[in-house]
Order: sequence, then structure tokens, then C-alpha cells
Amino acid sequence: MTRTISILGATGSIGASALDLIRRERGKWRVVALTANGNAEQLAKLAREFDAEIAVVAHEDALPALREGLSGTAIETAGGAAALVEVASRPVDITIAAIVGCAGLAPTMAAIEQGKTVALANKEALVSAGDVMTAAVVRTGATLLPVDSEHNAIFQCLQGGKIEDVRWITLTASGGPFREWSQDQLEAATPKQAVAHPNWDMGAKISVDSATMMNKGLEFIEAHHLFPVGLDRLRIIVHPQSIIHSMVEYRDGSTLAQLGPSDMRVPIASTLAWPARMDTPCAPLDLASIGNLSFQATDEQRFPATRLAREAAEAGGAAPAVLNAANEIAVAAFLDGQIKFTQISAIVARMLESALPPAPASLDEVLGVDEAARRQTRELLVSA
Ligand code: NDP
Repeated sequence: MTRTISILGATGSIGASALDLIRRERGKWRVVALTANGNAEQLAKLAREFDAEIAVVAHEDALPALREGLSGTAIETAGGAAALVEVASRPVDITIAAIVGCAGLAPTMAAIEQGKTVALANKEALVSAGDVMTAAVVRTGATLLPVDSEHNAIFQCLQGGKIEDVRWITLTASGGPFREWSQDQLEAATPKQAVAHPNWDMGAKISVDSATMMNKGLEFIEAHHLFPVGLDRLRIIVHPQSIIHSMVEYRDGSTLAQLGPSDMRVPIASTLAWPARMDTPCAPLDLASIGNLSFQATDEQRFPATRLAREAAEAGGAAPAVLNAANEIAVAAFLDGQIKFTQISAIVARMLESALPPAPASLDEVLGVDEAARRQTRELLVSA
């Protein structure tokens, strides 16, 4: 049976991994929408290859290039934020939400409104919208499947278990490229060094988040919404090999872990085939050659981001959306060479210390909090 699929953020790292799996089982899928921000050339190439119904660029300036790239085909084209939301509303069996940042929130919410399956990679959307998104999932009857490797691992470890029997959920963290770096070295870390992750090949923003450990902080908040065991039952442990992707400990003392190669095609495949399984081209785990799996506590002195995220989750309300917006702006400024690596978390901390707006209760209110926090963070950057 053919299933229909849309991929929001098709030109990114997650988009490429998802399309690689679809390419291998071409006959089983009909691609409806593929989207990008401004990379019209790559989007047109993918839309042609997968014979998509429609290709959309968020950045309207890229629309002429997209039209040009798809001339002579019957593939529809569109551009702009409203078009992105419209296309995410088109009925499909499964949407892969893989836009980076809060820019993916409105289209992800539009996909959820269909009441079908949404495979969520775009963690910033859930961090910012939190209860607003989970309430929409409940209201529409949509199925939200986690793509993030940690949450996908937890989801798998919870199959057959009861959430009330969970004692701990442990998120594993690689520790990123700077795990062993001193504070002085961190002060001088460059964007090139920050995006060179030891285990995973990812987009630039999440790579920097891994280096600051904010990625784990965002995942902590994401886990809080996906698996409501209570914040005091969620913890983070550094596991440099990235083989165990997360663990669930039950009240009888049994701990279940999901292991796999550091390849996002594994969790993506789990969402594409769920509740069944599908083949992937990933090499089987060779534990004998890996040899050792090691663990260590997080160091919140050098990497304060996990503490900031935990505090934002505890504060609730607008705090997670402010944390996320401040982090997005600070990471972009670091990648642009405007601020030092260590200033990223410092700026996020300053934003969380400022007067926070009331808790957002709707998508528009979340977007309002996000916009205001971005503006305020930019002002802070000017004075930094
Ligand atoms: P990339 O930067 O590789 O790709 C991002 C995608 O989003 C691209 O298609 C990009 O288009 C599009 N995009 C960027 N900005 C906008 C915007 N303003 N409006 C609409 N579309 C936009 O990111 P990743 O694939 O690495 O990450 C995507 C999401 O998945 C993130 O939330 C990340 O945290 C999460 N994730 C990623 C993992 C990974 O291994 N990469 C692992 C787990 C989660 P264009 O190419 O035109 O810029």
C-alpha cells in the first residue's frame, strides 16, 4: 500500500536522511510536499527526483529560482511563511517535521491539526510551544512520534511498559566536541570547531547546541512534554560513544536501553515504519570492536546550558520559549563571529533573568513570546 508523506525541511540533514530511506523503498511512498528555506536549487532537484506534488521555499526571494528549477514539470511551487503553513495542512499519512528552530512551529502545528502522524525532529517547536502543542495533539487525535534519537529510544523502551512504573528516564549525551576542554579553551572555541561533532553529522545549529550542551537542555524539556513522568524523574548522563541513545528504569530495578549506530536513519526508520520495522542501510552494531561504553556526570560549571534548561522547565510558562529564542539568536551570532562560544549560554541566562511575559496559551501567543524574546536578545547582543 502506498503511503503519502510531506517533509518540512527536506534540504536539511534530517530531510536528507529521511529521503534516503524513502529512495530505497520508492514504490511504498508518494511524496506530497517538500520544503526548504532558501536552498531552491537542492529543493528543485529533490522535488524532481521524488516527483513531489508541491515544493515550497519559506524565503520568498528564492521562489523565482525554484520556479526556474522546476520549469517543464507539473510540480507546483510556492513561497513564504503562509505557503509553508498551507502546504503543511495538505492531508498526508505522515509529516516529517524537520525545519530547524522555532520557524518550524507554525507548519508543525498545521501538520498536527490534520490529526494524522507527525514525526517530530524539530525539537525547538515543542520546547517553545510545550503544552500548546501537546494539547493540540490530544484534541486532534494526532500521533506524535519522536525522531530525536534520545526520545525515539525512550519511546521504544516504553513499549509494553506503563509510564507510572517508570522510576527514571535517562537521556544520554555525547558531551559534544568540547567535552574535555578547559574553560580557557572554551573561551577561544571557533564556529568551525563547534560544528565538528565527533559522532553525528548534523546541521550547524544543532551541532553548536551539542557543543554547548543546550541540545541536551532542549531535549530535557522535549522529554518532559513527551513522557510526563515529572521533571524530578528525568536526568542526563554523558556517554561519549553515543551507542546507548537513552534509557528507562522501571520501579522493579530493570533498566531498558536502546542501542544503535550514530545514524539518524535508525530513529527516522522507526517512525516511518511504526509500529512495524523496516530495513535500513546502517551497519549492524559491532560491540566487540566498540569495546567499552563509558558514562560520566554532566559538568554544569563548564556547560551551564542543561541547568538553564532545567530551570526554564521548572519555571514553565514562557520560560522555555524565551530560552529557545535567546539560544537561537545567540547561536546565530556565534556562527557569524559576533560573540564568543561561552557568551551563548551567558546571553541565554541573562534573558531568563529578565522579566518574563505571561504563559502563552495559544500558537499566536507562543509566536509573540518568541518574537519579543528574539528582539530583546538582539538588543542584548548589541551591548554585549
Ligand atoms: P539543517 O540545518 O540541516 O536543515 C534545516 C532545514 O530547515 C533545511 O531544509 C532548511 O532549508 C530549513 N529551514 C531553515 N530555516 C528555515 C526557516 N526559517 N523556515 C523554513 N525552513 C527553514 O537542520 P537539521 O536537519 O540538522 O535539523 C532539523 C531539526 O531536527 C532541528 O530542529 C534539529 O534540532 C533536529 N534534529 C536534528 C538531528 C540531526 O542529526 N541533524 C538529530 C535530532 C534532531 P534550507 O536548506 O533552504 O536552509
